[in-house]
Amino acid sequence: MARLSERATAGEIEEVRVRTLGRSGELTLLMRQLGGLAPEERRDAGRLLNEIKQQIEARLAELKIRLQQEALRRAVAEPPIDPTLPGLGIRRGRFHPLTVVLEQALDIFESMGFEVAETQDIEDDFHNFSALNFPPDHPAREMQDTFFLGGGLLLRTHTSNGQVRVMESRQPPLAVVCPGNCYRRDELSVRASPMFGQIEGFMVDRVGAVTLADLKGVLGEFLRAFFGPRTNLRFRASFFPFTEPSVEVDISCLLCAGAGCRVCKQSGWTEILGAGMIHHNVFRAVGYDPARWQGFAFGMGVERIALLKLGVDDLRLFFENDARFLGQFPAAGLERV
Ligand SMILES: [Zn+2]
Repeated sequence: MARLSERATAGEIEEVRVRTLGRSGELTLLMRQLGGLAPEERRDAGRLLNEIKQQIEARLAELKIRLQQEALRRAVAEPPIDPTLPGLGIRRGRFHPLTVVLEQALDIFESMGFEVAETQDIEDDFHNFSALNFPPDHPAREMQDTFFLGGGLLLRTHTSNGQVRVMESRQPPLAVVCPGNCYRRDELSVRASPMFGQIEGFMVDRVGAVTLADLKGVLGEFLRAFFGPRTNLRFRASFFPFTEPSVEVDISCLLCAGAGCRVCKQSGWTEILGAGMIHHNVFRAVGYDPARWQGFAFGMGVERIALLKLGVDDLRLFFENDARFLGQFPAAGLERV
């Protein structure tokens, strides 16, 4: 016992316990010999051995507790975490550049007094075609252009269904933009994708209150706010079933500044949206009297304006989700908080 110091290790303590109190320990052996003694001697010796045993047990317990307290003190004094080490960088997620571009465009329209209304991707023939004055034999109604679902349903080919949905449920005056995804049976290429985003916009008020000049004013205001004040625009006469007259709007190519490149097909201009005055047949389809109401509508592709805004020349990059590509855009001021 004398050899067991205050700094005894757990191993040393156990060694002493086995040597004295163990099955064949010194004290255990002595206690077994008590039976051979005379009753008087046995009582005195027994009492003595019991006292020694209790002292040894108390001492061993005391040393064990001391060891545990020592271990606890060390754990508190030397935490396994070193707070002086440099921290690990946290990789923050961010919005996809197409989402950011869409939000920026909607913000501009909202600042001009338009409200945002989202409508459904799965649509019926009436809201996607008939109400928009598509004749029954229009090529868009054929299988090679449209994803038809069962039961007379289809995936909308444009967000113009939103125009019909909003007008048939509300009365003018209206100034609304309808963002959403559209679907056409196109191959994925530099300029086209089978799924793409569109922003449909329209404004309806009394006859004479919303004219083609207002359309030009709104689109010019939007395009300069979105692409910059020196953005050049070009209006060309065009044809769409749901507008009359119809125009196509070209923007000076921001990638090549008019010199010609892959995105603008070497022309220096890029078509970014179609527009026009809402056709009387569309008004009739939603229950508006064309003698009383007048309005314009436009539709633009989200990927198209994103390509130009971000200086990207291949649409497919937006859908590959390569973090090295997507990570480039916060530097261009596109990060949203
Ligand atoms: Zn170009």
